[in-house]
Amino acid sequence: DAAINRIAAGEVVERPASAVKELVENALDAGARRVEVAYAQGGKTLIRVTDDGCGISPGDLPLALSRHATSKIDGSDLLNIHTFGFRGEALPSLGAVGRLTITSRAAGHDGAEISVSGGQMAKVKPAALNGGTTVTLRDLFFATPARLKFMRTDRAETQAITDIVKRLAMAEPFVAFTLRDVSDGGDGRVTFRADAETGDMFDALHGRLARILGTDFADNALKIDAEREGLRMTGYAALPTYSRGSAVAQYLFVNGRPVRDKMMIGALRAAYMDVLSRDRHPAAALFIDCDPMLVDVNVHPAKSEVRFRDPGLARGLIVSGLRHALAEAGH
Ligand code: ADP
Ligand code: MG
Repeated sequence: DAAINRIAAGEVVERPASAVKELVENALDAGARRVEVAYAQGGKTLIRVTDDGCGISPGDLPLALSRHATSKIDGSDLLNIHTFGFRGEALPSLGAVGRLTITSRAAGHDGAEISVSGGQMAKVKPAALNGGTTVTLRDLFFATPARLKFMRTDRAETQAITDIVKRLAMAEPFVAFTLRDVSDGGDGRVTFRADAETGDMFDALHGRLARILGTDFADNALKIDAEREGLRMTGYAALPTYSRGSAVAQYLFVNGRPVRDKMMIGALRAAYMDVLSRDRHPAAALFIDCDPMLVDVNVHPAKSEVRFRDPGLARGLIVSGLRHALAEAGH
């Protein structure tokens, strides 16, 4: 029902960047090898995500817009339902607060399109496309004027979109990403592009980090690979001699999802305490992976907090893993 979807939207979608996050995550879940994101006016008037993933059959299009309809939980997942987040809420929420169109084609099916605007769903129509999915979201929050007021400048919203796309791109180095500003119409202007990386996981991440943070970071970063009681930490962390001015370049992921977590940031700082002056932030891209039962990544759908079952263990892994790598490098 439209009113419930509008309320849920407030939980899932805070701003254009959170819509981008949900749509790109859907593309990645669909197995996309290539994801293109376009936006206009900081995402306020237009967000468009195109992927070459598995697509949605015409019959499933209305389901994709129904609350709690998800293709991603089977019986075995029900126990750790939290790790899958607020399932099946993103598309109905976006369709309740904006004008949403999904155009998609799954293998063995014809292409089709469905639109929903302010919660009103239209019929499925045929559409011509080769494969994959394009989701277009126009006029975010037009149906909820109170939310509309809370959006920041185009520039600030663009910055937030760019940041989340880069974080998602870091977590998926084998996927190609393009980000385009189409505010001035036409094909727009590419503002970020990362080709699919190759090699093993570390090679690919190294290449992607060079692309996103610069070769200066990648060439001055220590490879991190540490493990403790079922928690693994991988990634790259800057040598203390690497200086990025005052800009914060800390990218943290838990089970492949970008997070912002006080405990983890504190642990990163603590690891560098003796080798980096207090006014500088250690630059790092770190991935913690563990059994989903040991962590809750979806405390809240729009916030990227995490709750480890044993926070001390996670903190210990980060501090000792980084200190070990620093010591081995002579710091
Ligand atoms: P969730 O991702 O939690 O399942 P969503 O509301 O984000 O919920 O999406 C609903 C459903 O629509 C998904 O479970 C999936 O089956 C389908 N879907 C959404 N986006 C895509 C996409 N880009 N490619 C293929 N299927 C998609
Ligand atoms: Mg989703």
